[in-house]
Amino acid sequence: MQLVSGKRVAVAIAVLLCALALFTTACDHLFSPAPEESVTDDAVLFSTFVQIQIHEWPEDTDPQAVISAAFDRMERTGSIVSVYDEDSDISAVNRARGETVQISEEAFFLLEMAYKIWDMTDGAFDPTIGPVVDLWGFYTDDHRVPTDEEIEDALTRVDAERVQMDAADRTVRLPQDMRLDVEALAKGFAARAAAEHLMESGVTSALITSGQSSLKAVGDGPEGRAWRVGLLHPRTDEEVYAAVDLYDGESVSTSGDYQRYFERDGERYAHILDPDTGRPPRTIKSITVITTDTVLADGLSTAFFVMEPDQVLSRVENMDDVMAAMMTADGEIKYCSQMEARIKLTGN
Ligand code: ADP
Ligand code: MG
Repeated sequence: MQLVSGKRVAVAIAVLLCALALFTTACDHLFSPAPEESVTDDAVLFSTFVQIQIHEWPEDTDPQAVISAAFDRMERTGSIVSVYDEDSDISAVNRARGETVQISEEAFFLLEMAYKIWDMTDGAFDPTIGPVVDLWGFYTDDHRVPTDEEIEDALTRVDAERVQMDAADRTVRLPQDMRLDVEALAKGFAARAAAEHLMESGVTSALITSGQSSLKAVGDGPEGRAWRVGLLHPRTDEEVYAAVDLYDGESVSTSGDYQRYFERDGERYAHILDPDTGRPPRTIKSITVITTDTVLADGLSTAFFVMEPDQVLSRVENMDDVMAAMMTADGEIKYCSQMEARIKLTGN
């Protein structure tokens, strides 16, 4: 999760601004609804910038009230799973020091999703990565480069298979020295909750932004068009390197090494860590995933960041309903064949 610093929110996957000459024509149609034709609001919830823009809603509905209620749902879901919130269910498990803890339905669901993603990615996504994230100082922003011995020691406490979960009574038991971290799914989970509320309220066209990296489309964009989403360049602040089209029900998530990281002696250390090595991977600068489920998009972008670019592409080619585009460590832009029809490179 991104802690928001100030109002300048560089949404990693930013809804493309019309200022970009290349897309002006498309944007004229896509993102110039008259003010009375759309309602947008934003907020900072569970330390995360969120925004909802609604374009089509039922006549008897107050869109502002729908957005407020969706924000409440986002706040609740974000808070119950955040490792940064002492009152969250995940923090309760982490504090239990080996005791069995019963958690909420939502938190249990998210943990099950975390295990599904762990399985799908051969452990590149690991919900027990906590001890290593802690070691590098990412929880406190008191960053440091650990020694090899420290990393080796922390890795002995990263092992998703040692967590016991019981679906019948929604209990979790985490070995005493371990630490759960499903932060990589929190924004997607909150966006999913907001989407559920918008759909229950009869909204048929809306875009939800959750944190600096997760978007969810409810319905198509204005006038039935795709939502055009810009992928921020991981090195040139504010520029986008590509735009992708997003359709009804799709989610997009970006993970990269350019938003939460620190530098020491000219080296960049990003906050996504490889559960095998305990270190930040260095083969991808930014990776974007499109899929239907918002939580899956969020988790897969994190997991793919840990993998080799070609390994990501070959996996995605064999997956239904998952697309990926990335900028590799050497600045090359790569994407899967299904992405071809909906990505436009800007030349940045
Ligand atoms: P962001 O929050 O910047 O959008 P992500 O959604 O990719 O980034 O989540 C990054 C967070 O996930 C880290 O801050 C850390 O708490 C956690 N994390 C880091 N590495 C892994 C990993 N390999 N598997 C699961 N979670 C991870
Ligand atoms: Mg993520």
